[in-house]
Order: sequence, then C-alpha cells, then structure tokens
Amino acid sequence: MTCIFCAIRDGQVPAVRVYEDDRVIAFMDINPLTDGHLLVVPRAHAETIWDLGDEDARAVMSVARKLAHALRHALSPDGLNVIQANGRAAHQTVFHYHLHLIPRWVDDGKHLAWTPVPGQLDHIRQLGQHIAAAVGQVT
Ligand code: AMP
Ligand code: ZN
Repeated sequence: MTCIFCAIRDGQVPAVRVYEDDRVIAFMDINPLTDGHLLVVPRAHAETIWDLGDEDARAVMSVARKLAHALRHALSPDGLNVIQANGRAAHQTVFHYHLHLIPRWVDDGKHLAWTPVPGQLDHIRQLGQHIAAAVGQVT
C-alpha cells in the first residue's frame, strides 16, 4: 500500500515543504485547522510512536522545537498545539508518524479541548504505579 507521506518525501506527491534534513521533513497540512498548521515527519516510514526509532523521535522533536520558533517568528501566534495521534482509536488518519504543529490565537474559534472531570485518586494512583512498573520492562 502506498503511503502518502512517503510519496511526499520522495517528491512523487506535491507538498509545501518548509524544512528538511537527513532524518526529518516538514510541510504544510493540506487541511489546516489554523494558519500555519504544519506537520513534522520522519523520513523513515514508521506508523506510530510504537514503531518509531529513538533517534528519529529525538530528531522529530528537535525539528518541532525549531519550527515552533519559526512559527512564532513568522506568525506571532498566542499559543501552539503540538499534537500527535497513534491508531484509529486516537483518530490517526495517515499511518506514517507525524507531529502536528498548530498555531493558536486567543478567540480563534477552534476547539481541541475536552471538559476536565476529576478522577478518583485511588484509581489514578493505581494506574500510575502500574505504568511506572512497566517502564522497567521496555527499552
Ligand atoms: P492525523 O489525523 O493525525 O493522522 O493527521 C493527518 C493529517 O495529514 C491531516 O491533518 C491531513 O490534513 C494531513 N494530510 C493528509 N494528506 C496530506 C497531504 N497530501 N499533504 C498535506 N497534508 C496532508
Ligand atoms: Zn510512509
């Protein structure tokens, strides 16, 4: 199956590129939530964060930081959402890992928010301990 972001990387599909280096490319999202919405993408195909190599993870975040500054310089947003989806349940639609950088302005009328509802502290603590124990099981 062809991957649209691999095709963009290889120049087979056009995109408005804003940055590239030996590990990472970044281009404008074709359905922008706001002005300046862009995607930071590792060159190497990896579907999700669970498939991504550590070096690519570092490279993507380093480029995201650089582009966050570029966006601030270029567009003076009031804020910036950094969003990344893994799997259909998380509303991922393109299965080549990517970070969204979405500049935000006060009263821009866009919504990514959910309503905070306090959790049960015992349950939260139990889950935290369970996850902390799992950290020792992964590389
Ligand atoms: P996600 O839901 O996190 O997988 O987001 C995928 C994003 O890729 C969406 O915001 C799409 O608008 C964007 N997208 C899909 N195809 C293209 C394309 N050819 N060029 C630029 N952005 C794209
Ligand atoms: Zn790909």
